[in-house]
Parts: sequence; C-alpha cells; structure tokens
Amino acid sequence: MLEGKEKRNICFIGIGSNLGEPLSHCLDAIATVVSLEQITLTKQSSLYKTEPVGFRDQGWFINGVIEVKTAHTPRTLLETLKVIEYEMGRRSGERWGPRVIDLDILFYGQEIIDEEGLVVPHPELHKRGFVLVPLNEIASYVIHPVFGVSVQGLLRRLDDK
Ligand code: ATP
Ligand code: MG
Ligand code: MG
Repeated sequence: MLEGKEKRNICFIGIGSNLGEPLSHCLDAIATVVSLEQITLTKQSSLYKTEPVGFRDQGWFINGVIEVKTAHTPRTLLETLKVIEYEMGRRSGERWGPRVIDLDILFYGQEIIDEEGLVVPHPELHKRGFVLVPLNEIASYVIHPVFGVSVQGLLRRLDDK
C-alpha cells in the first residue's frame, strides 16, 4: 500500500490505562494523536471506567475509542502508536497487566490483516465489552470484516451471553 499524503484511511483505535492517573493518560494519548501530522481525529467516544479482565488483581481501567483518518499504513500506524506508548512510559512485559497506556488498532478500514505482530481487526475486540461499548457509541454501523456483523450486532451478541 502506498503511504500517500492524503489522510483517507478511517481507523478505530482503542485506548486504555489503569496506572497512575488513567483518565489523564487517556486524554494525553488522544492529544498526542491529534498533534501528529499524518493523523486526524474525527470522532471520540466517552471514556469509561471499567473493571479489569484477565489479571483481575489490578486497578480499574479507563477505556475509550477514537476514530481517526490517516495516511499511515497499518504497520506505520502501529509503530506510531507504540512510540506514543513508549514515550508515555509504557515498557514491555505488561500484556493484560497494569499499563500506563495501551493503544490498539481495532479496525483499519475494512482490511483484514494477519501478520507477525499485527492482526486487524483486533482479535479480541468482539469479546470485549470495554471495547464494544465505546466503539458502538461512534461506529455502531461499522461492519466487522471477518464476521460480517456490525459493531451494534457484536455488542448485542455479547450482551446475550
Ligand atoms: P491485547 O492485544 O490482548 O489487547 P495488549 O494490548 O496488552 O493485549 P500489547 O502488549 O499492547 O498487548 O501488544 C502486544 C503486541 O500485540 C504488540 O507488540 C503488537 O505488535 C501486537 N499487535 C497485534 N495486532 C495488534 C493491533 N491490532 N493493535 C495493537 N497491537 C497489535
Ligand atoms: Mg490491548
Ligand atoms: Mg496493545
């Protein structure tokens, strides 16, 4: 894919934090994303306080989702998000554990990617209320390209369980 100047790719990014001041970290991360030349913020969900899943013995999270338009390829977008995570103080070895900031690519247009270190749509999004609830706020109509189901449908399916 060409890395053009046009910011024509619509992507959804999941944001989470549960260390220090989680709300400030989420707002800082959004502000940093907004400041980048190659990324434009187009929608922003509410920020939710959520209970930890996985390692339950950790602080509650703040979670939200943003929609951006970007000229970055999925890979470059991922690297950019990792730089923001690192600059905000995140270090590796914290998967599913406490973290200053987590920035995950949820959708990149309707692309399906399954590469080393990059899976899009995010492989867990359909199982996670803390992703689907904020995503549904700003993207209820968006179709999950693997399942062929809208975000609203995925959320309903989750609620059914
Ligand atoms: P989860 O991915 O289950 O939400 P996590 O966000 O805590 O867990 P990280 O430690 O942030 O996991 O990332 C682990 C690796 O996941 C990263 O090194 C990254 O390369 C890879 N990865 C694969 N697909 C994605 C994606 N869509 N968005 C972000 N990271 C991804
Ligand atoms: Mg994550
Ligand atoms: Mg992550």
